[in-house]
Amino acid sequence: MRGNTITKGMAGPLLMAGTRKRRHRNVVSKLAAPDSPLVAALHPSPNFGERLNGAKPTILLMHYTGMSSAWKAIEWLAQPESGVSCHYVVDETGSITQMVSEQARAWHAGRSFWQGETDINSCSIGIEIQNPGHEDGYRDFPAAQMAAVLALSRDIVARHEIPRQRVLAHSDIAPARKIDPGEKFDWAFLAKNGVGHWVAPKSVDPCDPGLSNGSDAPEVLKMQELLGRYGFCVETTGVLDEPTAFAVRAFQLHFRPQRIDGRIDRSTVTTLERLIETL
Ligand SMILES: [Zn+2]
Repeated sequence: MRGNTITKGMAGPLLMAGTRKRRHRNVVSKLAAPDSPLVAALHPSPNFGERLNGAKPTILLMHYTGMSSAWKAIEWLAQPESGVSCHYVVDETGSITQMVSEQARAWHAGRSFWQGETDINSCSIGIEIQNPGHEDGYRDFPAAQMAAVLALSRDIVARHEIPRQRVLAHSDIAPARKIDPGEKFDWAFLAKNGVGHWVAPKSVDPCDPGLSNGSDAPEVLKMQELLGRYGFCVETTGVLDEPTAFAVRAFQLHFRPQRIDGRIDRSTVTTLERLIETL
């Protein structure tokens, strides 16, 4: 598995001995039956633990696998030495495999942040969506696959009462490390069908290249405040520093996919303002 896709989670192999002990005591977390009627197959992964501090799922997190086939990804996510897992894998035909019980903490988010929360694994359900990823022929997600992601997401957010604005991309919660599921993932389709938070992005102006790294224009502080209010991990430094540029890029990957450059242009700022207005 390549660096920018599924990497070792917070509870990787170093912590596995302890995690394994806990797992044997906690029989409720074993994957014995599917949590969703939409699941076609079970393929249990040993890579999970208890949700910490009694956390419940309040985030639905989307990933791509970044591997050449769904089966390869499933095999990897089921190997103890990978130290990673997820709750569901959706292949390109739309077939859904469950790997970890929704009660359990799967290891898919890694070092992350959203609205002050850093243990995203404990408060999320993770879906891995088959796509070879940006390093190996990133391509459109087929309609059958998106339909399955939509149906599964609807089922999950209904059962756990997950708010629309907490259906997120891996890139949202780890902007410097992750770019999945990427700009081809059809958030507009999901939102049109009741899943996730979305507004039509303000059109990109080719004459507005946006602010680049190092800028301390007033729009930078404004953008940092807006990004932070929405949930991103951004310090209000007033300078377009590297972490801010990564957060802007993550925002664009999810909400303004027409141009992904990490620069603060009027289209990006306006789209974020519109999103916050509709919260
Ligand atoms: Zn991911």
